[in-house]
Amino acid sequence: MADFKCEKCNKIIDTDMFLKDFKVCPYCKHHYLLDAKSRIELLADAGTFNEIAAGISPVDFLNFIDIKPYKDRIKESQQKTSISEAIVTGAAKIGGFNVALGVMDFSFMGGSMGSVVGEKIKCLADFAIENKIPLILVCTSGGARMQEGIISLMQMAKTVSSINKVKENKIPYISIITNPTTGGVSASFATIADIIIAEPEALFCFAGPRVVKQTIKKQLPPDFGLSERNLKNGQIDMIADRKELKRKIIKILKLFS
Ligand SMILES: [Zn+2]
Repeated sequence: MADFKCEKCNKIIDTDMFLKDFKVCPYCKHHYLLDAKSRIELLADAGTFNEIAAGISPVDFLNFIDIKPYKDRIKESQQKTSISEAIVTGAAKIGGFNVALGVMDFSFMGGSMGSVVGEKIKCLADFAIENKIPLILVCTSGGARMQEGIISLMQMAKTVSSINKVKENKIPYISIITNPTTGGVSASFATIADIIIAEPEALFCFAGPRVVKQTIKKQLPPDFGLSERNLKNGQIDMIADRKELKRKIIKILKLFS
């Protein structure tokens, strides 16, 4: 990867520095998309992440074709990201605390939630309950996976019901909102956590600003759906820079322990 111009501040970013800082611009602190593997490296103590529910792969049960077949989209995403679905789930330690950690990846079909994402979250929630350890989900998603039709929408009910079981068992659940988290994910498990932490300027809303603007035919505030506005409106509990994220999570885990 060669050095490149920051899409926000236009300064030339040194790639080595950029990757070392987990894809944050060193000048304007713009937080770029972070893949699931790097996110796990950022949050989990070194060598402690053990993937669970790894063997579940998506199936094209509707033989769905939009511009291209869903089967091809799955294959392409798997090759591009070297993960099998839009979420990676597992057991990990964070600051020495055992946690059940799930990390979504926007590069896998826009982090869309299909039947496998729902099932993996259910398995992870069950794992958190069995082991009495906190559940942490790092969210990023464009919403439901249209290639799975109504089944993708059912994942909203499924994940919420799994999280409700976590709550009934008095297991803490922390949701981390990263840019962008929208649609069916924002309207289900991302929003019902005990504590919601968001990265700076992360878009977190149901419908994006473009769609809302077209629908209500009004100008929207420039910070519509962004972390800073969501914090003011009580939609999230705190904003954490990527480099501060692990330290803040550990602080919260200490409070819960
Ligand atoms: Zn920048």
